[in-house]
Order: sequence, then C-alpha cells, then structure tokens
Amino acid sequence: MGILKLQDLYFKPYLHKDEIKIIVKHLALQVKRDLPKGEVPIFVGILNGCFLFAADFIREFNGNCEVSFVKLASYNGISSSENVRQLVGINEDLTGRTVIILEDIIDTGNTLQEIYTIFKDKKLKKLKIATLFFKPDVFRKELPIDYIGKSIEDKFIVGYGLDYNGLGRNYPEIYQLSTPPKMKNIVLFGPPGAGKGTQAEFLKDMYNLVHISTGDVFRFNIKNKTELGLLAKKYMDEGDLVPDEVTINMLKAEVNKNTDANGFIFDGFPRTQSQAEALDAFLAEKGELINGMIALEVSEDVLITRLLERGKTSGRADDTDEIKIRNRFNEYNTKTAILKEYFDAQDKYYGINGIGTIEEITQRISEVFDTL
Ligand code: AMP
Repeated sequence: MGILKLQDLYFKPYLHKDEIKIIVKHLALQVKRDLPKGEVPIFVGILNGCFLFAADFIREFNGNCEVSFVKLASYNGISSSENVRQLVGINEDLTGRTVIILEDIIDTGNTLQEIYTIFKDKKLKKLKIATLFFKPDVFRKELPIDYIGKSIEDKFIVGYGLDYNGLGRNYPEIYQLSTPPKMKNIVLFGPPGAGKGTQAEFLKDMYNLVHISTGDVFRFNIKNKTELGLLAKKYMDEGDLVPDEVTINMLKAEVNKNTDANGFIFDGFPRTQSQAEALDAFLAEKGELINGMIALEVSEDVLITRLLERGKTSGRADDTDEIKIRNRFNEYNTKTAILKEYFDAQDKYYGINGIGTIEEITQRISEVFDTL
C-alpha cells in the first residue's frame, strides 16, 4: 500500500484489507448472534459507500436474509452536509420485519437521522443500525447505533467503497487524508559497477538530498566490526545478497536518522521485490513516496572491465575476483532486475544511458530528476 493521489489530495494507508475483513466478520457475527432463531432479516445498505461493505458483510453473515438498498447523498468533497437527499427509496413492504441498516460510515449523524425518518412509519418489528466506521468526535445526534465496526478519529478516509469526489471507491484498503509529500525520493538503479555511487555523490549536493547506499552502510559496519557487520560480511564477501529482513531494518534506521531531509537517494536498495514493497509501505506511513527509479543502463562486458579496474584500488573483496563479480550479476539478474517492472508498472521507471563521461551522465540524470 503506497500513497494514493486522488485529484488534488493525498491519502496514506490506514487499514489493510485483512484488518477490514476481521472487523466485518466480527460485525456480522454480532448481528447474527443477536437475531432471534429463525428470524429472516432485511439488510438495507445505504448507497453508494456501503456496496463493498454490504457485499462482504452479507457473505460473512452467511444465513437466510433479504437484501435491499437505499441511496442517500450528503457529501460534497470532503465535508458532510446537512442536506441529505434520498435518490433511491425502499419499495418493499417491511411491515413486521427486522431491518438492519448497513452503513459504511457514520460521522455527524445527518444521514442516520434521515434513515430513522425514512423507516419511522414503515411498521417495522425492529430497526437496527450497523456501521463499519463511526466518528465519535463529530457525532451530534441522540440516535442509537447498535453495531459499530471501528471508531475512528475525525479524519477523512477513502477506499473500500468510500470516495473522494466519486474516486477511490475501488480500493480494497482504507486510506486516510494526508499532507502532500514533502520529499523527493529516488531510487538509483543499475547493475553493480554502473556508477550509482559516483552519480549519487553529485546529485546529493545538487539537490540537497541524503544519500543512502546500503552497500556503504554494510561496509561501514564491517569495518567497525558491529554485529550487523559480522552478519553481513559472509554474504557480501561471496557477492550474495544480505537477507531482506536485515537489510530492510537497517534501511529504515538510516531513513529515520534523517527525518527532516529534502529527500533521499536510495542506492543499492531496493534489490528485491519484498524490499521494494517494504520501502513503499514505510514511506507511505510517513506520507511520502518514491518519485522515480532512475536506472543506469550499461552492458555487462563494460561493467566487468570497470569492476576489475575498480578492484585494483577499492579494497573491496567482491571487486577483485571475476567469479564473485559474476555472482553479483547473477543476483542482480535473478532478484533485482525485476524491479524495473515493479516501478514501470507505476510509471516510475526512467532508463538512462550509463555510458559516457561522469558529467554527461549526471546531466542526463538531472534532466529526469527535474521532471519528477
Ligand atoms: P553495493 O555496494 O551496492 O554493490 O553492495 C555490495 C554488497 O552489499 C552486495 O553485493 C550485497 O551483498 C550487500 N547489499 C547491499 N545492498 C543490499 C540490499 N539492498 N539487499 C541485500 N544485500 C545488499
């Protein structure tokens, strides 16, 4: 779950679909438990927002029931309005029946009041209200609510049926209104030896960014014989990837050391799909995102010559031996190269010709960076 942009507003992840599922299931079980044996309720969903909730709820209820809908409209943009309009009404005869209202969210209570008015003279046996979300801080009515899935703070949410100006209903998760991202973050991508580290040094000064090279952080730890260094060394010396969990935790700690940064250059991270997903989720929690992956494209032959040359002075065990270098390419091709698709799918992949002078390549990167 990354940051969501709907028209002019940004939303950050709030509830994962698994959490929603648990809440809905719990609600359905409570409702079922309270019904007299043999009673066939009529569930009335309040459209539009309830459509996913109602569908999931009724499946979880898993018993004889009837289903109907009322369509009410009260929202304009992100503010609830007093003026609730009934767009589609009830046609069934409800005399003597138990009606259970399925609402996606109750905040001020204006819609709820309208619901009570609509059903007042329908001669029901019972009217009960089940809502997925409830905002206690803004509820202003003295009206009963029988079942509440989750009480939430007074922040605008979208997803799972709920919309912002008609958009966002399709997402299976819930997102919460957030401030616009403040950072500009890039992933500098490319096979070993492509020149990521060199370019990052220039870019960080040009754009006042923080450069995080996971390889450098590991080497620093190895040099200082930290616990992390000892753990990473055996993988690095062979040109293998350090396990994801170790790397992801280390990266988070590095980012958290620089919370007021203008942005980050991620160099050597992410290297696997799960690292990419973890990075997206981690930034999204902060209301931030990756703006683009800038990839230096260089052929393998050129790279091997470059790396062997670098190995003469870099002191890196993984640069001197062609077999280890080949293994790093193998790791890159089998685990890392797929990230091109991951970012491409989000329209965030920018390939750059990585052959040329350092200045030429910096120029190519900054042309892309300026458009992000
Ligand atoms: P680099 O300096 O980016 O070429 O990284 C050198 C070595 O550090 C790699 O071959 C891996 O052993 C380890 N390493 C660096 N970044 C990562 C990462 N994101 N995931 C796993 N291992 C990494």
